[in-house]
Amino acid sequence: MSFDQRRLAELADHDAFLKRHNGPNADDTAAMLGTLGMKSMASLIEQTIPSDIRLGRELALDEPRSEAEALDYLARLARQNRVVKNHIGQGYYGTHLPAVIQRNVLENPGWYTAYTPYQPEISQGRLEGLLNFQQVIMDLTGMDLANASLLDEATAAAEAMALCKRANKKSRSSAFFVAENVFPQTLDVVKTRAEFFGFSIIVGPAEALVDHDVFGALLQYPGNSGEIGDLAPLLKKATDNHIMTCVAADLLSLVILKEPGALGADIVVGNSQRFGVPMGFGGPHAAFFATSDKLKRSIPGRIIGVSKDSRGKTALRMAMQTREQHIRREKATSNICTAQALLANIAGFYATYHGAEGLKKIAHRTHRLTTILAEGLKQSGIELAHDSWFDTLRLTAVDSGKIHGRAMTHEINLRYFDNGDVGISLDETTTAHDVTMLFEVVLGDEHTLSVAVLDDAVMAQGTSGIPEACRRESQFLTHPTFQRYHSETEMLRYLKRLENKDLSLAHAMIPLGSCTMKLNATSEMIPISWPAFSQLHPFAPRDQVAGYQQMIDELAAFLTEITGYDHISMQPNSGAQGEYAGLVAIRRYQAAQGEAHRNVCLIPSSAHGTNPASAAMVQMEVVVVECDQDGNIDLNDLRNKAEKHSESLSAIMLTYPSTHGVFESSVREACSIVHKHGGQVYIDGANMNAQVGLSRPGDFGGDVSHLNLHKTFCIPHGGGGPGMGPIGVKAHLAPFVSNHVVTPIEGVNPDSGAVSATAFGSASILPISWAYIKMMGARGLREATELAILNANYVAKRLEEYYPVLYKGDNGTVAHECIIDIRPLKATSGISEEDIAKRLMDYGFHAPTMSFPVPGTLMIEPTESESRYEIDRFCNAMIAIRQEIESVENGQWPADNNPLVNAPHTQADLVEEWNRPYSRELGAFPSEAVKLGKYWPSVNRVDNVFGDRQLICSCPSIEEYRS
Ligand SMILES: *Cc1c(COP(=O)(O)O)cnc(C)c1O
Repeated sequence: MSFDQRRLAELADHDAFLKRHNGPNADDTAAMLGTLGMKSMASLIEQTIPSDIRLGRELALDEPRSEAEALDYLARLARQNRVVKNHIGQGYYGTHLPAVIQRNVLENPGWYTAYTPYQPEISQGRLEGLLNFQQVIMDLTGMDLANASLLDEATAAAEAMALCKRANKKSRSSAFFVAENVFPQTLDVVKTRAEFFGFSIIVGPAEALVDHDVFGALLQYPGNSGEIGDLAPLLKKATDNHIMTCVAADLLSLVILKEPGALGADIVVGNSQRFGVPMGFGGPHAAFFATSDKLKRSIPGRIIGVSKDSRGKTALRMAMQTREQHIRREKATSNICTAQALLANIAGFYATYHGAEGLKKIAHRTHRLTTILAEGLKQSGIELAHDSWFDTLRLTAVDSGKIHGRAMTHEINLRYFDNGDVGISLDETTTAHDVTMLFEVVLGDEHTLSVAVLDDAVMAQGTSGIPEACRRESQFLTHPTFQRYHSETEMLRYLKRLENKDLSLAHAMIPLGSCTMKLNATSEMIPISWPAFSQLHPFAPRDQVAGYQQMIDELAAFLTEITGYDHISMQPNSGAQGEYAGLVAIRRYQAAQGEAHRNVCLIPSSAHGTNPASAAMVQMEVVVVECDQDGNIDLNDLRNKAEKHSESLSAIMLTYPSTHGVFESSVREACSIVHKHGGQVYIDGANMNAQVGLSRPGDFGGDVSHLNLHKTFCIPHGGGGPGMGPIGVKAHLAPFVSNHVVTPIEGVNPDSGAVSATAFGSASILPISWAYIKMMGARGLREATELAILNANYVAKRLEEYYPVLYKGDNGTVAHECIIDIRPLKATSGISEEDIAKRLMDYGFHAPTMSFPVPGTLMIEPTESESRYEIDRFCNAMIAIRQEIESVENGQWPADNNPLVNAPHTQADLVEEWNRPYSRELGAFPSEAVKLGKYWPSVNRVDNVFGDRQLICSCPSIEEYRS
């Protein structure tokens, strides 16, 4: 740094943000190093990270920017995006996010910093929100069951195809039919998925579906260019021919269209974006997935179900959680983990706020304006491709060049088909004035059409674009929840009531191993609400999205430097989808080398369940590599298996540092063994928080990695999504990452199909990671990693006297997380890791990760953002709990009546008769910290078995909530 640069840096206080992001200050750091018996941070790192993989230099990133400067810079980028009126449609529509939901959910850390609701007692609020979402989807689709979101409509359709194949026992075919009027981006993703599942895809007119021998079919309702066909006869014929059917449907249209369940669909998928979620240049939004009852146990994704707590009171939980949490590894049929919980909640609340009447108004108004537009255009001699519509018209035989010119003048985006047709989609935000503008755009300014006159005629004649047979007759959203919160006051209180049931980072640390629940800084979050980021259509002309493109390019450049890879693909919407995208790139690359036969994927036994699930999705054969006593990959076993499968070795999937929380010293060797046998190295980047600025997977042997931007790079977890899982690849894989059929990506092979519905996945949350890196700078990022490692070692040190730390590195240190073993305690006391997890709630904490990757253990990851004060508070709680366990061990408390097995304690426990061998105070206020500010779990321990035996995934009656 030159003298001038240094002085400028001082004047700008470029350290400001890293002091906000990192928990421990210099004094804390020194004291914690002292506890570890370490002279310096440098020596802790030296003893933790193997020398042969250490970076040994600072990352080459720009000087850090202050929060104000970073926001200023982003605002300038945002100004290079152009927000215009969008009538593109094609799956993405304007919508009004009700302000009460924007401020109290989307922009509220009480909602967005929560974790996936694996601990139901402290998650009842978002579980109720997600149950509402499921009910909305079930009602509107007319199906028996819906899950609590998938990543996007296109991947939901791909999941539907896979489900059809699994569930259809009557068909031997391996072909899947896709109607030609399915959105092109959906077809793109379905094709990719089919290719690697080994299915063939037949595309044709919907009516031709029964002419083919297929196991399943995907239809769209309304179709790609807005037409509405009566699907009932077709679906019936399909069923008669043992073809399972999936209908991709538009949620708002279902308010007035006959529900696909009533038409005979087996599966219904779609996007809930237009229920209040901004387009955000492609995402995040919650896709939905609904099925008939007979498919309920094979539905992908998370399902919220109704169960009971230990008092018999209604309590919600994730149904079939064991299946979900310990994803069925190589037997898995889907790898979905992070989904779109926050956005599903928002869409559910949008429906709750509007109710059936409000939604009908929105849908009818949208349709009425579309009908006015259609009638006006027809009167003026414009030909429409279809005589049915909900909100979309396709104009045919028009002068699209002229229309395009006028549209640009008026700052209006339309959809332009390859054959010269023009598409116009209306939505909730469309006004009568917009329709007038559209007349001008299509017809020029000589036309004499009047919206008011046309509307009179439409109303008088009852003109509609919806065929008689396709009109909805059934009720929906009849549940009281959808009738009670229509005033803003009621809605505000409902949202607050639910929020208060949940524990989030706004309450306490969430020490979840492998999840990196770090600070989601407010400054990082602010830009996602800016219209110049949130209101952009993913298929907008590229000259309107220059700011986005630059921000994405800059972020990609940061991430290439951080990972040591050559290229970043910003498409995958989650870590698991990144794994899939990375494996697809490997398979394409190997095929291009004439090695398509390579299909063995080595995966250590300690791997996250998504790894083998992703491998299964590209038809790789998973060969498990054993771990040794210390939890490290058994190199001999690796060597033998690589040797044995040398001819067919495709890849290894390694997590680094390992899911055991250790920097294995032999990682370079492991990578080179695989390379020697012609395999590629996939390094799962979920644990990048232990590497940033200190080592780079691209340097020590990785060919490809995903990054969980919602772990390491500060995108909040949102209660189970959104996320982003971009992949870094070495140059040889770069041409083989995902492309996109609608908005092609430079440098990627044109025939590399997509894994997501949009080119840059959930683009609108990328400013969060951009801002984090920009504000931290190279030194800040390195220090964050060092502190993450220090905090974890400090936790391990403080707890090891009380709980054995299961795995350590060569020099007795751990990486950024540590696993404590509860099995010995369970043997002596009967107290399980689950009891400890629930008891932590009484102390005001979220549990660590339970039983992953080793059953009977807890995995603790404090992250750099937690202060020494908070970490001590957590350790003190864990130590106090250990002492409570001792009282069970020595018989002071009976095994079946003690604060651990009775945990969590609720207000209901306190007001009723107390016949327990410990005081009420010890039950509910076990620490001084809790006495100062108590977080109350809203239900007692939730019965897991009950909820799975009788699967109820719809809203229970309000009375049941009260009972
Ligand atoms: C979180 C995680 C994943 C999956 O990431 P998602 O974003 O939830 O899909 C994969 N591997 C490891 C080790 C993880 O911790």
